[in-house]
Amino acid sequence: MSKLHHLSVQELSQQLSQQKISSVELTTHFLERSKSLDEKTKAYISLNEEQALEQAKQADAARAKNNCTPLTGIPIALKDIYCVDGGKTTCASRMLENFIAPYNATVTAKVFAQNMPLLGKLNMDEFAMGSTTETSYFGSTHNPWDLNAIPGGSSGGSAAAVAARLTPLSVGTDTGGSIRQPAACCGITGLKPTYGVVSRWGQIAFASSLDQGGPMAKSAADCAFLLDVISGFDEKDSTSIQQPETTTSQHLEDSISGKKIGVPYHLFEQDQKILGKANLEHLTEAIEEYKKLGCEIVNIEIDNLQSAIAAYYIIASAEASSNLSRYDGVRYGYRCQDPVDLMDLYKRSRSEGFGEEVKRRLMIGTYVLSAGYFDAYYLQAQKVRQIITNQFQNTFSQVEAILLPAKPGSAFNLNSHNQDPVNVYMEDIFTIPVNLAGLPAMALPIGFDEKKRPLGMQLIGNYKQEHNILNIAHQYQKNTDWHLQTPPNFD
Ligand code: GLN
Repeated sequence: MSKLHHLSVQELSQQLSQQKISSVELTTHFLERSKSLDEKTKAYISLNEEQALEQAKQADAARAKNNCTPLTGIPIALKDIYCVDGGKTTCASRMLENFIAPYNATVTAKVFAQNMPLLGKLNMDEFAMGSTTETSYFGSTHNPWDLNAIPGGSSGGSAAAVAARLTPLSVGTDTGGSIRQPAACCGITGLKPTYGVVSRWGQIAFASSLDQGGPMAKSAADCAFLLDVISGFDEKDSTSIQQPETTTSQHLEDSISGKKIGVPYHLFEQDQKILGKANLEHLTEAIEEYKKLGCEIVNIEIDNLQSAIAAYYIIASAEASSNLSRYDGVRYGYRCQDPVDLMDLYKRSRSEGFGEEVKRRLMIGTYVLSAGYFDAYYLQAQKVRQIITNQFQNTFSQVEAILLPAKPGSAFNLNSHNQDPVNVYMEDIFTIPVNLAGLPAMALPIGFDEKKRPLGMQLIGNYKQEHNILNIAHQYQKNTDWHLQTPPNFD
């Protein structure tokens, strides 16, 4: 039998239901692995040993009474942006270093309702602002494939923990690429659902019109099982939507023969200088694989990538400046020492509590919303958002899915881009348009570059079509084994 941490969710579920293993044993296995190996990756902000083992006992009791679902007893770890009642939820910020959430996020509650033991909370860029996990107040996570490389971000801890097989499942969030881009960097699979499919209640807000949580796991099939658990209409989230009728895991084995997949070949041309050589080769191979599976490849165009980045940084920063105004040192979060008056309390609590990148966003956001500049920036950005949304709708009248890179190249070295925020913003050039339009999209591994760092492709679907892209991804994974490979020191 393969080692437990290599098994899929379906295999783990079978082992549990046939009583070949208990949830306590499984949870202990992942906790021990996390304790010994996380020295290298630093994927966790906190481990949740005691509660996880208690939850595992409850899961075993529930299974013994046959009171269970497929995921009962399978451990999980959450990005440290999700509130867990009575536990620390830091958002990787000094501002929330000691914040104890007074309630469970809907995602947390849904995971707990299945008796899934929570192994711990995972590292991320501060308030999810970043593409490298280097803006975390607690220090960067390292990519398990190469400890000198970034794991991507902002859900870098989630991606690294799954890649290093420290947890079978994790939940991340994606505002401009933060699930898909780290998934690509770490050679795992991640899905950003349609905006509104997964509740944002209790997920600490960055840019509310873009933020969306989703599953991160070894494979598309594992993501589908987890999505079925964490999705659902939630009256506590005013942007929650009525859900698709069927569960995503039901469609994994559907035939994809005859499906039309759009590929923006114009982005593959080398003179565009966006795409690395290895990425291009592996994307071409993936497209060939889909042809073999009977899909029809359609040449499409995706325009306005650069404008999408500009629009995103205006809209996301504007929303962040409003969302993060609540951290003023009064009700919760970091408070400076000995303030002399209220102004001093606000100013010092915020300037000491937030890191550089967060402050940069808050200043951009406040600026673009200010009276004289609103029309020039914010209003223009909203127009670009609409144009991009319309373009996607146009494309989806011709194809059922779009295939494109998840990011320009593989993960770069840690500390190599710290002085160059705009260059880091470019990491999300292929993911940001999807958030602006609110579409579902996923990233999955397609090979490695010459340094043996993972590369990923992205599949985008139309609204509420996550079952369709998960199906397309699963069929690829049934015929390839990139998603089964593990980093050499984490076997
Ligand atoms: N890298 C992008 C940003 O810094 C996206 C982050 C995200 O998706 N949370 O805003």
